[in-house]
This record gives sequence, C-alpha cells and structure tokens, in this order.
Amino acid sequence: MRSLTILGATGSIGQSTIDLIARDPGRWRIEALTGGRNVALLARDARRLGARIAVCADPAGLGDLRAALAGSGIEAAAGPAALAEAAARPADIAVSAIVGAAGLVPGLAVLERGGTLALANKETLVCAGPLVMARAQATGGRILPVDSEHSAIFQALAGEDVAGVERVIITASGGALRDWPFERLATATVADASAHPNWSMGQRITIDSASMFNKALEVIEAREFFGLDPRQIEVLVHPQSVVHALVGFRDGALMAHVGPADMRHAIGYALHWPERRALPVARLDLAAVGSLTFSTPDPVRWPALALARAVMAAGGTMGAVFNAAKEVALDAFLAGRIAFTAMSVVVERTLDRMLPEAGPQGAAMTLDLVMGTDHLARIRAGEIIDRME
Ligand code: NDP
Repeated sequence: MRSLTILGATGSIGQSTIDLIARDPGRWRIEALTGGRNVALLARDARRLGARIAVCADPAGLGDLRAALAGSGIEAAAGPAALAEAAARPADIAVSAIVGAAGLVPGLAVLERGGTLALANKETLVCAGPLVMARAQATGGRILPVDSEHSAIFQALAGEDVAGVERVIITASGGALRDWPFERLATATVADASAHPNWSMGQRITIDSASMFNKALEVIEAREFFGLDPRQIEVLVHPQSVVHALVGFRDGALMAHVGPADMRHAIGYALHWPERRALPVARLDLAAVGSLTFSTPDPVRWPALALARAVMAAGGTMGAVFNAAKEVALDAFLAGRIAFTAMSVVVERTLDRMLPEAGPQGAAMTLDLVMGTDHLARIRAGEIIDRME
C-alpha cells in the first residue's frame, strides 16, 4: 500500500485524483487531504477515503470542518501554515492541485522533506522555478509533471537523453473564444470565456485557456522543468486537443503524445510512475477524430505568449510578477471590473513597472524574495486596474 496526500483535493484535478484512487481500492492510504473553502466536500472525501488529516486553507472553515469530522478520528486543521505542515507529513507521493501561487509553499514543503511531488500547480515553477528545482536537487525530492503537456513531454523523453532534444512543441486548444472575431473579444463575458470546447477544468484555468495565459504559464513551466532554452519551446494551436505535446530530436524525429482530453491519464501516469498501469480513460478512436489541424498562434489575438517570452528573457523574479499580475487581472475580470482583453494590458503594465525591482538581480532566489515580489506585484497590478476604471 502506498501513502498519498492530495493538496487541493476539492478542485477539478483533486477530484479526478480521488476518482482514480476510489477505483483502485486497497492500493492507497490517504495521509492528508487539503481544500480551500469547500469544507463539506473536503470532509466527505476525508471520511470516504479514511484520511489521517484534513486541512482547509480558509481559517474560517475550521469550526465547520471539525463538526463535519466529529467522531471520525480524522484530525482537522486550517490556515496556510497548517496546509504546509500537512504537506510536510511523510507520504510516498503528494499531488499538488492547488490553484495559483498558493500552491508554492506546500509544494516546496513536500520537496524539503525529499518527497515526490506530482505537480499540477504550474504556478509553482512559474513563480520560483530555479528555487524549486534547486531544492529538489538538494533534498533528493522528485517532481513528476501532471500538467498534460508536460506529462506528454516527460513520457516522450522516457529513455531519451534531454541533450538530444532540439525543440518541444506544446499544443493549445485556443480556448472558448478561439473562433470569435477579434473585434468582439473585448465584449466577452465570464460565461463566454468559461465554456471550454474540449477540457473540463477549474474556472480559472479555463479562462486562462481562452486568454492563452495558461499556455504562457506552461511555456515558462516547460523551460524550468526541462531546463530548455526558451527558443526551443514552440506553441501551436491544435483545436482537437488530441496531440498534447511533441518532442523534436536532433535527428529530426518528432515524438507526439496522443490521447483523449482526460486529465486522469496524466494524473494516473504520475501516481504510478515508473510503472504504466491500466487507467479508466477512453481509448482514442483516431478514425472518428478524422483530421488533426495545427496553426501558429496569432500574436495579436493572444499577447500573453509574447509576454511570457519577455518574462523568460528578463529572468530574476519576473515569473512571480507575471503570475501575480495575471491572477489579479483574472480576479478583476471575474468581478466584472475589466474587459477580457484588458487582462493582458494589466499584466504588461505590471511587468513594465516591476522590471527594475524584479529583473535579473544576480542574487540566488529565495522564498522570501519570491513572496515579497508576488506581494508587491499584486499591489502594482491593483493600482493599474484602479486607474483603468
Ligand atoms: P480548481 O479551481 O478546480 O481547484 C483548486 C483547488 O485549490 C481547490 O481544492 C481549492 O479549494 C484549492 N484552493 C483555492 N485557493 C486556495 C488557497 N488560497 N490555498 C489553498 N488551496 C486553495 O483548479 P484546477 O483543479 O482546475 O487546477 C489546479 C491546478 O492544476 C492549477 O494550477 C491548474 O493550472 C493546474 N492544472 C489544471 C488542469 C485541469 O484540468 N483542471 C490541467 C492542468 C493543470 P476549494 O475549491 O475548496 O476552495
């Protein structure tokens, strides 16, 4: 039996992980489950799976969590510190499925104890890639990618030498607004941007798919995880979401990872790695898919991709600025304060404002530096939004 912790158990990736666990009785012992605000779901799953501890990030939820777990023998805790402590408890593998920069500290806590981190939370590497990779190396901790594109690259690289990689190609569906006339994008509502054509995901990543910020984060994530030069990472729009990523080798060969749009494949691959076990995902009927198409992303429609390139060129803690500004801009869009197309404007202006403070500093990256930069970038992005209204 292997022990498992799920950080962000109440979200889309967390629930897909639980679906896999529930179908595989007797294989897993659950150490910790964590959630944000959805205390009822957290408590239900903690009871169902017999977790040792359940933690909600929101301190206000502790009373309800305790009440819901009364008599179960399951420990209850709340707040960001309790979340990091839960991540630090020994477990064979921890899935990081928290959304946003809030995933960084718990993910690092797993690596600090030399643990294995199945990483869906791309923000961890975007905000602090050099720090996270260095800590993993120092402690013997291991990161296994769960983001589907990165899992696809990881699988295409099995048995290969990374030095033989010429390029990787990450595909993007183009999101909910892909076929909208460009002039209409500014009028897109939250509901419009939340209707993903292929993937069922949390609302934030779904809107990030429509704005291409999700792909922008993934380009940075790929650079940090695989240690690639940014020029080696390409993005193609692929509306069918069947090819998740391709790896090009120096002999000209291109290895593609092909599969249905079901995150349980990438999650299951990480959970069982290095074994390949049977997974309950649909088998692809390529004849039914018929044709696969690819195109170069339009830089005017999707400015987020060029912003990611600027962030990688600048280095320093600009990744943390990029993510923080994007999170604040997304909150403002969700609240109806700014237009869909204004999100990239907010991020660009925040990057410009923060470059002198967050650009290359020469100093080694520390968690305090990243957290301080994240905090300041959120203030700056908020000021920029205030001025736009
Ligand atoms: P969801 O919004 O569905 O779930 C997010 C999870 O994080 C929930 O458990 C939520 O708790 C919890 N949470 C929210 N805020 C905090 C906080 N401040 N502190 C601690 N926990 C918090 O997100 P997804 O599952 O869609 O995405 C999770 C991560 O995986 C993201 O980084 C995303 O980019 C990445 N990812 C997701 C994919 C997908 O298919 N969904 C695909 C590839 C990557 P609660 O709901 O209880 O408030």
